[in-house]
Amino acid sequence: MKVTLTFDNGPTRPVTSQVLDTLGRYGVPATFFPVAQKLRQPGNRTAAERAAAEGHWIGNHTLTHAVQLGDTDDPHLPEREIGEAQEIIGDLASPGRLFRPYGRGGILDRKLLSPVGLTYLQQNAYTCVLWNCVPHDWDQPDRWVDRGLQDVTTRDWSLVVLHDLPTGAVDHLPRFIDGLLELGADIVQDFPPSCVPLRAGRLTLPVDHLLPA
Ligand SMILES: [Zn+2]
Repeated sequence: MKVTLTFDNGPTRPVTSQVLDTLGRYGVPATFFPVAQKLRQPGNRTAAERAAAEGHWIGNHTLTHAVQLGDTDDPHLPEREIGEAQEIIGDLASPGRLFRPYGRGGILDRKLLSPVGLTYLQQNAYTCVLWNCVPHDWDQPDRWVDRGLQDVTTRDWSLVVLHDLPTGAVDHLPRFIDGLLELGADIVQDFPPSCVPLRAGRLTLPVDHLLPA
């Protein structure tokens, strides 16, 4: 059983640093998907730089995390929400251009992508990283660990979405990692192919169910 850890919506300096301390202690690699406008604050940028320096991957989780691609008719949204975000992330981006769309509440539905958004991602060689395990750390900050540990046993390779936000949830990250190790999970940095519908701009899975009807 494999498990991949991702941390979205940060960086939030003290929380991201706490996550990095924990990951470092266990020697576990992860990927961070920052909301790019947060990187404009120097302390947050420093936290993301530390993450990259310690071998974690850094992706793009939109500029503002405010509008879903499939929930607007604005044809310029992808340039702004994806393109400007990527410019801010700059040389922290690795490996290649990883993009995770804003999925309100972790739901993979028809608002996740849009035709213009998909075209933008394809033309600019993005790899789109979705997920298959959402333990709800943001609204159950003290209860997500058991939910997450139970859920990862239901599939061969889980891509877990957590958040480096000041909810208190990451206080329980050591218990989660201990639990994964007790389950015999191999904690890896790569993503399960079933969660990556677009690789360097090339469609590898059908995405019709993620586009407006
Ligand atoms: Zn998010």
